[in-house]
Amino acid sequence: MPELPEVEVVRRGLEKWVVGASFGEVEVLHPRAVRRHASGAADFAARVSGCGVTEARRRGKYLWLTLDSGEALLAHLGMSGQLLVQPRHAAAERHLRVRLPLTARQGHDPEAPQELRFVDQRTFGHLLVDRLVDDGTGTGLPSVISHIARDPLDPAFDEDAFAAALCRKRTELKRALLDQSLISGIGNIYADEALWMSQLHWATPTEALSRSQVATLLAAVREVMGAALAQGGTSFDSLYVNVNGESGYFARSLNAYGRNDQPCARCGTPIQRETFMNRSSYSCPRCQPRPRHARA
Ligand SMILES: [Zn+2]
Repeated sequence: MPELPEVEVVRRGLEKWVVGASFGEVEVLHPRAVRRHASGAADFAARVSGCGVTEARRRGKYLWLTLDSGEALLAHLGMSGQLLVQPRHAAAERHLRVRLPLTARQGHDPEAPQELRFVDQRTFGHLLVDRLVDDGTGTGLPSVISHIARDPLDPAFDEDAFAAALCRKRTELKRALLDQSLISGIGNIYADEALWMSQLHWATPTEALSRSQVATLLAAVREVMGAALAQGGTSFDSLYVNVNGESGYFARSLNAYGRNDQPCARCGTPIQRETFMNRSSYSCPRCQPRPRHARA
């Protein structure tokens, strides 16, 4: 499942290849891809067709293209969604759901027209058109994601406000990290990696954290995401805007996630797997001891 760094790689690709172009006649090939667009597939296509793209933005795992109509084309990739920029004549992908032809823009060969394609094998992803609401920065935020908190890579992320909200929440630390209304873009993999790096147990009560522990944790989140971005970011400098949906390229660098019974890179103790929120949590029992006052 794509997490924040993978989605940011896609955003950078869209910024490079789609911003500055306009859409031609948009074609929805599978209505499920626009199921969250309340007024239906025909309305979706009509609202996007002919619009110019002025920006490619992201919050957490949501991506959007700001349109010159004043609306936004919002995308969530779900489990397996991909946004590809392909030559218009290229054969359709097996799971192609929406075609969005692009008009030629500066630097593109007008003889080789391109299109943005939404490809989604498992159809958990979706596209919709939404109005923008003021978020205090930039050109606005799609209204349907206005409850999503800023992500830790956002320059306007407020560390003090996050630390205070974390303390008030009185829950297990990992549950708070996965709560998109507190901090967005952190999934199971990066939560486990950041907790390992900051030597905190996932069940630590949030109100027991010191301000410096919160700062250490946020620095760890940014470091693991930055490392993933650096690795994923090497492949986007091509016409193929891609996300593989598996975070596979980052697997070599993982210290905790998925490393059940393998030695901790810091102390050699076998990493242990525990069940939490119907998922697996991986941690080092020595470096990340369970606090005595743990909730779970
Ligand atoms: Zn350890």
